[in-house]
Amino acid sequence: MILARDALTKLKDGNLRFTSSLAADGRLLHQTKRYELTQTQEPFAIVLGCSDSRVPAEIVFDQGLGELFVIRVAGNIVAPSGVGSVEFAAERFGTRLVVVLGHSQCGAVTATLDELQRPSSTQSRNMRSIVDRLRPAFEGLLSTELRHDRAALIQAAVRANIRASADHLRHGSEVLEALINSDGLLVVGAEYSIETGEVDFFDGVP
Ligand SMILES: [Zn+2]
Repeated sequence: MILARDALTKLKDGNLRFTSSLAADGRLLHQTKRYELTQTQEPFAIVLGCSDSRVPAEIVFDQGLGELFVIRVAGNIVAPSGVGSVEFAAERFGTRLVVVLGHSQCGAVTATLDELQRPSSTQSRNMRSIVDRLRPAFEGLLSTELRHDRAALIQAAVRANIRASADHLRHGSEVLEALINSDGLLVVGAEYSIETGEVDFFDGVP
């Protein structure tokens, strides 16, 4: 089992390789690795990230097959199936680091802000279920001066959403809470910058 703080270091190192264009060329590695992984897997981190095509966790952290257990959903929202997936990996594989990975220019975040400021009735019920999960983290922001500065509002909303998702994972599951309290599980929030490629771990890092 890889300790949470060591897993965090591996992700930071991987992101550094990614941003400095030193990412490993995995083509040869994949062949041998794929055979090794036919019997088992031991991912060292769980990543709950956004579906945005510009933020694939394996690439931005420069990781290969079998290393990350990834859940992706628009707006990196935490729905029951997402909590269940994190519980599954933490219990089954002993993975001790969970990263909620949001990102700048998140379309789910901007769509939700638009909806809050100018409600429409055109969304499908399914898309609305995403907006409804994002909404509570944003309502407070819209009563501050940020509502007059769209870029700053989006920036703050992205972070508020990451914090809300990380908190939900920390406190919305008895299984995860027990692992956090007595078994070294760590849930951190991080923001990926579409502009620079850098990941900033800003929430819950010891
Ligand atoms: Zn997004």
